[in-house]
Amino acid sequence: MIEDNGKKILVDPGSNKKQLVKALEKKNLKPDDIDAIFITHWHPDHILNIRLFPEVIIFDIDEAFHGDEIKQHHGRILDTNIEIISTPGHDINHASLLVDTDKGAIAIAGDVFWWEDKEKQETDLQDLIAHKDEYVENMTELCVSRKKLLKLADYIIPGHGKMFSVKKGL
Ligand SMILES: [Zn+2]
Ligand SMILES: [Zn+2]
Repeated sequence: MIEDNGKKILVDPGSNKKQLVKALEKKNLKPDDIDAIFITHWHPDHILNIRLFPEVIIFDIDEAFHGDEIKQHHGRILDTNIEIISTPGHDINHASLLVDTDKGAIAIAGDVFWWEDKEKQETDLQDLIAHKDEYVENMTELCVSRKKLLKLADYIIPGHGKMFSVKKGL
């Protein structure tokens, strides 16, 4: 979850209802307190929990959906400075978020970067760029997207795995 300009934005709510509700409760939040949801890509493990938020506006790479209304988002989430960046490859219609914070730029990268549950996270630049993705739709585009995020971000939150800091040198 990101908080910016008084808004609470949830990214990829996932598919485990119990876990999500618990995580929100820990922050004293209910699903109704969320102002917007961003979907990096429409794989079931990233999206099934949108059913808990029928009234919330949903952003993806192309548009924003609110009930049966479709709106343009012009590359930003609501009236925040959170930037929506096209990052195809794992999925052709995949986007990431870039968030400016006191600690630096944080990319919420969805499955541009992801690891199996027990896999070791290698975070050297070359390992990150070449890391195997067994669900990839276009490896060439995925590599371009990975380089793009590694250049823009100081920290990356992967779709599966832990946040890591970006080693400079690209
Ligand atoms: Zn995926
Ligand atoms: Zn995934």
